[in-house]
Amino acid sequence: MVVRRMNNFAKLMEKHDLMNFIERCAKCSYCLEDPISHKPICPSTEYFHFASHRPSGRLELARALIGLYDNVEFSLNMEEVVNKFYSCTLCAACDYKCKELTGKSPLSVFMEVRKELVNSNVAPPPEHRLLLNNILEHGNPQGAPREKRNERILNSINNPHHLSKNASMLYFVGCVPAYSNNLPSHASNMVKILMKTDTEFRVLPDEPCCSHVLIKTGQEDLIIDQMREAFEKVDSAGVERVLFTCPACYRAFKYEYPKLLGVEPDFECITASEFLYELYNEGKLSLDGKAKQGEEIIVTYHDPCHLGRQSGIYEQPRRILELIKGLKLVEMPRNRETSWCCGVGGGVKTAFPEFSKKTGEERLNEALSVGASLLVTACPACESGFIDALKTYEGKNNLKILDIVDVIAQRLP
Ligand code: SF4
Ligand code: SF4
Repeated sequence: MVVRRMNNFAKLMEKHDLMNFIERCAKCSYCLEDPISHKPICPSTEYFHFASHRPSGRLELARALIGLYDNVEFSLNMEEVVNKFYSCTLCAACDYKCKELTGKSPLSVFMEVRKELVNSNVAPPPEHRLLLNNILEHGNPQGAPREKRNERILNSINNPHHLSKNASMLYFVGCVPAYSNNLPSHASNMVKILMKTDTEFRVLPDEPCCSHVLIKTGQEDLIIDQMREAFEKVDSAGVERVLFTCPACYRAFKYEYPKLLGVEPDFECITASEFLYELYNEGKLSLDGKAKQGEEIIVTYHDPCHLGRQSGIYEQPRRILELIKGLKLVEMPRNRETSWCCGVGGGVKTAFPEFSKKTGEERLNEALSVGASLLVTACPACESGFIDALKTYEGKNNLKILDIVDVIAQRLP
């Protein structure tokens, strides 16, 4: 499909004050490298090797799309343009670095372009259209049966008094923990911790999908009503707090809905990492159960992009791991703000599975390079992606992948 440049982009970019930046990207490559380890931080640059897969290359393409080359007649192959904009994990590593240097956000440009490509009917890739259809039809991107959403949770509750209708906290489970085949116990592990610490909680009988993946794939305008419904369902529960083990769901409620729907949550959004650390500080959660005498497992922590760079939560999961008896925390060369992505985000796992897998493998190699036998993350999507990437090694290493929730649940006295 070949079309002329699309001048309607210009208005959009002006509206978001992004035009100025698109014109001025210095192509300095500051966004490509971790300044301490000198390792690369942009997965799409590393995997595809083309200039058009660099952050600056995408900005050049945006420049072409909005018709900034005024006196030049040219055409763009829109299939290729779509391909370039969607083969990015939206990990925000470039965004962090560029903001540090220029105060500008390349990620905002990528997101706005994706949205406009969708609104111009040339995107998203077919795999992402399927996510939309599945959410509309089944209430989850996997297309799994709606009625099975709470099965894992309900099967793991052995004392119904914890599941109180009057509880002031709601556990928002999320589609990945509810349905992922390779994460059968993530949600039930969270429930195990809640019960062990005598925390009353509720779950929604008809929990909706947060649609975060559709926001990321530029399809937000097609799902506004469903997002509003999701927000209202949670809001009308009347709880003080909503607990999220999935950072994408957390981001949807805390940051995206207020921006897209103009709503102000009446409840506090809290991630599992923050909540677990709070439980520990209140003396409700013991972290030294089940450590064998003399046992020392080398553990490293992977910062999920949605939790770290995009929500600013870096320390709580590390403090928890440091406090657990029998674990020794070592850092990977790329950590915190310049952490390497797991390869799952931005819809990449669905539309570009090989790129996603290689990106995950790179992180597993980094964990192995620091001698870790346990790689811990705080995001079920990262965990699931790593578990898939680990299959490449066919048992040739002894690396284990766990979420922070699983680590604690396994060590409960
Ligand atoms: S996006 Fe920012 S950091 Fe990257 S090349 Fe352009 S100006 Fe430099
Ligand atoms: S968001 Fe991540 S994958 Fe995309 S261009 Fe930036 S660093 Fe590269």
